Amino acid sequence: MLNANWIRSSEEMNYAAVAFEKEFKLSNAVKSAVLRVSARGVYVAMLNGKRVGDFIMAPGWTVYEKQIQVQEYNVTDMLCGNNKIELLLTKGWYLSRISTDKKVQGDIQECINERECAVIAELAVEYIDGKTETVATDSDWLCFDSKIRFCDIYDGEIYDASYTVKKLGNAVVAANNDRSALIPQIGEAVKEQDRLKPVKVIHTPCGETVLDFGQNMTGYLEFTVTAKAGDKASFSFAEILDKHGNFYNANYRTAQCIYEYTCSDGVQTHKPCMNFYGFRFVRIDEFPCEIDPDAFTAIAVHSELRRTGRIYTSDPYINRLFSNVIWGQKSNYLDIPTDCPQRDERLGWTGDAEVFIKTASYNYDVEKFFIKWFSDMRYSQSPEGVIPSVIPNAINSKLGNAAWGDAVTICPWQLYLTYGNTVVLKDMFPAMKRWVDWIAGQTKTPFLWTGQFQFGDWLELNAEPGKRKGKTRDDLLASAFYANSVNIICKVGRVIGEDISEYEKLYKKIVRAFKDTYKNEFKTQTEYVLALHFDLVDDKSKTAELLARQIANDGNKIQTGFVGSTYILHALSENGYSELAYSLLLRKRYPSWLYPVTKGATTIWEHWDGIKPNGDPWPVLMNSYNHYAYGAVADWMYEVAAGINTVECAPGFKEILFKPVPTDKIEQFGAEIDTREGSVSSRWWHEGGEVRYEIITPSPATAIINGKTYKLSPGNYRF
Ligand code: BGC
Repeated sequence: MLNANWIRSSEEMNYAAVAFEKEFKLSNAVKSAVLRVSARGVYVAMLNGKRVGDFIMAPGWTVYEKQIQVQEYNVTDMLCGNNKIELLLTKGWYLSRISTDKKVQGDIQECINERECAVIAELAVEYIDGKTETVATDSDWLCFDSKIRFCDIYDGEIYDASYTVKKLGNAVVAANNDRSALIPQIGEAVKEQDRLKPVKVIHTPCGETVLDFGQNMTGYLEFTVTAKAGDKASFSFAEILDKHGNFYNANYRTAQCIYEYTCSDGVQTHKPCMNFYGFRFVRIDEFPCEIDPDAFTAIAVHSELRRTGRIYTSDPYINRLFSNVIWGQKSNYLDIPTDCPQRDERLGWTGDAEVFIKTASYNYDVEKFFIKWFSDMRYSQSPEGVIPSVIPNAINSKLGNAAWGDAVTICPWQLYLTYGNTVVLKDMFPAMKRWVDWIAGQTKTPFLWTGQFQFGDWLELNAEPGKRKGKTRDDLLASAFYANSVNIICKVGRVIGEDISEYEKLYKKIVRAFKDTYKNEFKTQTEYVLALHFDLVDDKSKTAELLARQIANDGNKIQTGFVGSTYILHALSENGYSELAYSLLLRKRYPSWLYPVTKGATTIWEHWDGIKPNGDPWPVLMNSYNHYAYGAVADWMYEVAAGINTVECAPGFKEILFKPVPTDKIEQFGAEIDTREGSVSSRWWHEGGEVRYEIITPSPATAIINGKTYKLSPGNYRF
């Protein structure tokens, strides 16, 4: 975009959207025309009164000082003789509260202080006679205020359809007119996906009118109204109703999630398009006419990803749990992987992304989505090697945390296993090494990772009342992840042909130090799980037996948090305790994966008891009903229950290992993954006192069925 300038409003826009306009004539017949647009903020482009493209929240969220995506639209058919381009600009992630409000200090605060919302665009026209012409943003564009009187990612939208837009003057070329951070779109486009109608109109005990869309989700509300200019419509959003059936959204914390609309005359349809809400319920606070549920639509918005994975069973609770996992992913894969979509957070927490990535990569094709996030991860890594806990680093996180920063090794390795692409590994290898080198440089104990604040097994259930961290020892958890990351570096080095001899030695020393220090004596379920799953004990069967005993002592229920819950079923089934794994999976009382399902959950909750057995919600301080972390259990359903496994030496499902583990506790279980090699499917069911299996493989495979090993060529098989 060499001919275009970054332009900004001549007046302070505060939280209102500002619009830039350019009218121009085209003298000749057009062969092709491309409009390229980007923004320091969020933009919507219009050409001759029509929206260009369908990208929501463009240009997306990146480490803006390093890279800003440019979207490119073919607008050949939208042009005529007299034309007008309009660009609407709001603060977006760039400068709204999500980036400015986090008590950030230091360099990130300095860089935010220098930020200025701006937009940049270029229309490149080629005429049929071969001549070309360019229309690009400059100070001759005009600047207007807009009907969007307020727009903030956390705080919502105020729109005044009866407002007469004012001309503010000419646009101003931004002080920072540097275009070197502009890059072509590298991630997936964010688009409107599902359209949901209310399943119910609820009149609550305290007199509110609430639309129930039946599904917790991320997006916005569209409505149609017939009104007079000046009439008002306003709405509030919530994920749950309280135990009395009243509207409840105290868990949004300071995120105001406003949606206020002032009508113009006549029939009108409106939806916000530069911010988003996390909700299932909408309270109608004001509306100028009778409520017709048909007039309302909840529109789910997320990155456009190809759906690849499905799990279907005879158990309606498991089916609902899996649906909740899918909706958790949809709701939180909005350009970056976030923790939650509703409260004043919505950040790219690395730990959440890390625990969920395997499930995510089976459910949807997330390769491109993560490649974009990884590039920001590399830009966010500190000179010392720290991977911040949030990417982009909107909270100025300075300390690396075990299981969070380890996203730098675990996530690329998983993408490689699922999709078989070595480029990701090559791109991330230096960052992986710098991460573990940083750990080695600052740990208090050689070959372990000790003496530092950790999130630990976040939200582990054996925490003291009011605490979010449980009893799993920080140093043990951190050392286990240190070992795992170094091990991954060794595997990556072998794949891409890098010298990893130093890391191989380091790995052996970490494993030795771990075994010598912890001597197979573990105190919590998570400690056992990590030692088993990351191969840090000599006698696995003894350790697994002790884990099973620990679970029994804990009342035959999980006590694990974000980290332990990801691996506990694997640790059990890898070591001969599949039936115990199934009983944990199928448990319906708190704490369990199915407990929220019994409480009507339609997404995965942040807390095992987001709604307590007595109906009370978890304290407002930190309580999301759309946090996918515990949804990581779906990877066990794909890999163990249905038995579909990648093979490290032939990744991307070029070879497949089928190892289904049936149980009498479920009648039928099946999964399919649409891999790069074709569709893989595995299912089993009980029939006439026997278990029957069906396997469909597009690649050479090994199947282990009832203890017997079969070598399979691509095809369909029944056992
Ligand atoms: C987020 C989590 C995150 C955690 C880190 C929370 O506020 O919502 O999902 O991983 O902080 O401790």
